[in-house]
Amino acid sequence: SDVGPQKERVMTEEEWLQKWEMGNIGFHKEHGHPLLQKYLDVLLNGRSGLRIFFPLCGKAVEMKWLADMGHSVVGVDVSEQALKDFFSEHSLPYCEEPVPEISGGKMFQSTSGNISLYCCSIYDLSSSLVGKFDGVWDRGALVAVNPCDRQRYASLMINLMEKNSSYLLVTVSYDPYKHKGPPFYVPESEIKSLFG
Ligand code: SAH
Repeated sequence: SDVGPQKERVMTEEEWLQKWEMGNIGFHKEHGHPLLQKYLDVLLNGRSGLRIFFPLCGKAVEMKWLADMGHSVVGVDVSEQALKDFFSEHSLPYCEEPVPEISGGKMFQSTSGNISLYCCSIYDLSSSLVGKFDGVWDRGALVAVNPCDRQRYASLMINLMEKNSSYLLVTVSYDPYKHKGPPFYVPESEIKSLFG
């Protein structure tokens, strides 16, 4: 659980935007994540018509999966390109509107209304703006957050959750001396202390 070498590491918003611009998006899974398929029942727990949140969503195809199952999906990413690519790659018509509460914030919504993607920093969101969620798919999100921001991120996520919500979290385990991240190494003990 020695995370020493990554503790001070910071990825700026600009660096993330550059990754998208350069097509340097090895994290994107074109065919979706097998772990969501595997643990879908845990996320849904027999419930239908849920509100599902995708923090740091990129253009995750799992958003389309869940919307097609009848759930309502909300995502957030700093990259406008990622969000626009999501809609165009799935041939989904959408509209764009400003979010007055967030300076420079925009929201892209599928015409059918069941997918709303916010273009802003996740730290700009609050439950008064986006409501609370019944489920969270956190893949490439906690592990992409700068190590110094983890506490803030976790508190926000807890605040965005309904009482009986399910939170699926994917992390990666590796020697943090051999790779600088992201994805960052988040030890299990830290996950426990962040989320309880
Ligand atoms: N969850 C997605 C993307 C993972 S990569 C997937 O599974 O494919 C991390 C994403 O977080 C990038 O798309 C990056 O643009 C976005 N990002 C980084 N910092 C952010 C922040 N503070 N607020 C919102 N999005 C952020």
